[in-house]
Amino acid sequence: MKKVLFVSSEIYPLIKTGGLADVSGSLPPALQELGTDVHLLMPNYQSIKTTEDIYYKSTIQVNRMDVNILETRLPGTQVVVWLVDYPMFFDFPGNPYIDEKGEPWLNSAERFALLCRVAVEVAMNRGYLDWEPDIVHCNDWQTGLIPAFLSLETHRRPATVFTIHNMAYQGLFSKETSGLLNIPRELWHLNGLEFNGFFSFIKGGLAYADRITTVSPTYADEIQTAEFGYGLEGLLSHRKEDLIGIINGIDAEHWNPKTDTHIVAPYDSSTLSKKQLSKSALQARMALPIDNKVPVFTLISRLVEQKGIDLILDCLPEMLTLPVQFILLGSGDKAFEQQLTDFAKQNPEKMAVTLGYDEVLAHQLEAGADVFLMPSRFEPCGLNQLYSQRYGTVPIVRKTGGLADTVCDALPKTFTNKTATGFVFNDATAGALMEAIKRSVLVYGFSELWSQLQLNGMQKDYSWLRSAKEYQSLYEQL
Ligand code: ADP
Repeated sequence: MKKVLFVSSEIYPLIKTGGLADVSGSLPPALQELGTDVHLLMPNYQSIKTTEDIYYKSTIQVNRMDVNILETRLPGTQVVVWLVDYPMFFDFPGNPYIDEKGEPWLNSAERFALLCRVAVEVAMNRGYLDWEPDIVHCNDWQTGLIPAFLSLETHRRPATVFTIHNMAYQGLFSKETSGLLNIPRELWHLNGLEFNGFFSFIKGGLAYADRITTVSPTYADEIQTAEFGYGLEGLLSHRKEDLIGIINGIDAEHWNPKTDTHIVAPYDSSTLSKKQLSKSALQARMALPIDNKVPVFTLISRLVEQKGIDLILDCLPEMLTLPVQFILLGSGDKAFEQQLTDFAKQNPEKMAVTLGYDEVLAHQLEAGADVFLMPSRFEPCGLNQLYSQRYGTVPIVRKTGGLADTVCDALPKTFTNKTATGFVFNDATAGALMEAIKRSVLVYGFSELWSQLQLNGMQKDYSWLRSAKEYQSLYEQL
């Protein structure tokens, strides 16, 4: 049985700002279920929320700081979580990256360098925890220094895996910061932690980890290009033999149309006609005409450029001339919010907009809509196209990242071999998106073809166990 130390700056439900927390809270229990011995490590932030007890385990000295290691469990599981307790850094309100006022922590580099140093001590069994991992699994830039530091260990060291959840965040600091943090000089060079004169945390992972993973096979290819690599595409393509993409799972209990308590009439693939009841309820809630024949399009998203909201805006005048309804839930860029609200006001019979974050409505939209729009410019993995397929809501996606890997375009060939699950378009243009929208409206008119698309999607397996098996076979190779 492999022993894995899994290090992350956020773990759901202890603390969450984004998808990294979901992965860190879901993958380790799934690995444990498959027989891997996983222990988690993260900072002891003031804002951690848990119902589990927390115990003192040990005190270690790193970089002349005395740091406590506390132990708890991931709520609802048997997975051990070790907390790096250093009140001078972590005992403040705010989230892992920003303070109470929304300003980035001025000492982010110090905070995460400390996390990395403690991880190295634990990894080398010098943390008085009496546990020696075979593998250290690091996530995103906050943990990037771990593979770099471990590369300097002269005794037997564990193997390292570094997972990229989003290349857009790299942990770049000044060269002086690396001096202040006592980063060993032998790591400061072009093939090490230096990046265009800056000190780069993520390069520690990309240059020194034994294996690199990212959250979809297509994103693994894309980050080797200038468009998605943010200057690190050369290093990534140099390391392509060690780089693989593994699709994230979804919380299959929380996003299950059969047991969803937020919807009027739960359903599954054998009772798909009940989806209509959710559709009527949704149309009623949104004050749209209750009409089962017209396809309802939806979009649930952060309203930012990454998500292709500008493409949607460009399509709307033509899209709203078609026999469709469009219901949108999101928040973000104020200009996008305003323009979308204006469109809805001008077309009250066809379009409804809800601004804000609303988990319950998100479930009702997945259940009640026919089509889900996700025209992202880039998408490392993406979740909503997976939820949609589970709910028999057919996604329209741009061919990028995890969207390209998880939605199979509706073509004669893919209808025949029963793999078609949605509509895929290539170019990030309103014209290409509009073509896909028209194709979907056309296919919606043929109810047998449409149910085939729905059923193909509902039968796919996006559980965490499936992802965990892929990580496990990666661990076995190390
Ligand atoms: P990203 O992490 O880039 O925002 P993902 O598709 O991976 O995109 O995940 C987004 C998650 O956040 C999904 O679970 C989606 O349903 C949810 N979400 C986004 N905006 C809202 C909102 N306004 N209300 C409810 N849920 C939302």
